[in-house]
Amino acid sequence: MKAWVLSKNGIDNLNLKEVEKPEVKEGQVLVKVKALGLNPVDSMVIDLIPVNAERIPGAEFAGEIEEVGQDVKELKKGDKVSIYNRYFDGTCSYCKSGNEMLCDNGYIFSIGSNGGLAEYVAVDQKNALKLPDSVDFELAASLPVAALTSYNALERAKVQKNEFVVVVGASGNTGIFALQFAKMLGTKTIAISSKDWVKDFGADYVIGYENALEEVKKITNSKMADVVVESIGEKFWELGYSLLGKNGRMVAFGTETGSNAKIDISQLYSKQLSLLGSTGGSIRQFSAVVNKSKDLKVKVWKKFNFQEVKDAFKENNSKEKNGRIIIEI
Ligand SMILES: [Zn+2]
Repeated sequence: MKAWVLSKNGIDNLNLKEVEKPEVKEGQVLVKVKALGLNPVDSMVIDLIPVNAERIPGAEFAGEIEEVGQDVKELKKGDKVSIYNRYFDGTCSYCKSGNEMLCDNGYIFSIGSNGGLAEYVAVDQKNALKLPDSVDFELAASLPVAALTSYNALERAKVQKNEFVVVVGASGNTGIFALQFAKMLGTKTIAISSKDWVKDFGADYVIGYENALEEVKKITNSKMADVVVESIGEKFWELGYSLLGKNGRMVAFGTETGSNAKIDISQLYSKQLSLLGSTGGSIRQFSAVVNKSKDLKVKVWKKFNFQEVKDAFKENNSKEKNGRIIIEI
């Protein structure tokens, strides 16, 4: 089969090669990859994470079952599936408490093992979740990272109906799903974004970065935000934090602009704020995301074919980026 193989760090060392098709072991399924969504984690794998052996990147993908191994009963050839992209042992205390994303022996596909930039990937059956018929592969390839991360973040923040949820960077991969899930929960959503189209993804209000504080004050009648979803990192951390009202919760999961943040401790206790982190999500949450996927949508900016992977990565850093980048195989 063909796969994009990274021999050492740097995009120049990513090459399309003929490699052996993965063997399907007992309890596994062979997935014919149909689409991948590009993420910051892919750039991290290519540029920063030391490569000890040849590695196939690609953390977020979906496809069709090509072959099932022994003892696989729930899935069959031709099923459309989205892939929970973490290995987990199912036996440690975190797995047993339904926190597979924190598994003591866990890792993300493409970091701890090969990812999805290949014609085929073999995964354990528990990692392949069957999609509703109406869901296309562009959306299916946005569920394992973009949608799941947002879903977990809102659960971590215990978002309640009628609360004000502010999404910083609302047009980003995760932002558009944070808005959609927040609307499903019956909240009032405020998107901080320069893109007006986020209204089509559930933003009740769209405000700019410059006057965000005044705007949130106005919209919430000075109550300020109950929840702030922060996916960008250092650059807008203080802004997001300043938007929280009493008993406010800020949930963060991205560091694209840096990972050093300052907090005003007096605000933390006097307003009883909570700062939360979230990473990916659990199998239970992924199953919920897949079940809700028929009511979700994704904004795709550009699509590339399997031969154009390097061009796709170049565009992924573009300032013009306006929605997701999807690779179709
Ligand atoms: Zn575990």
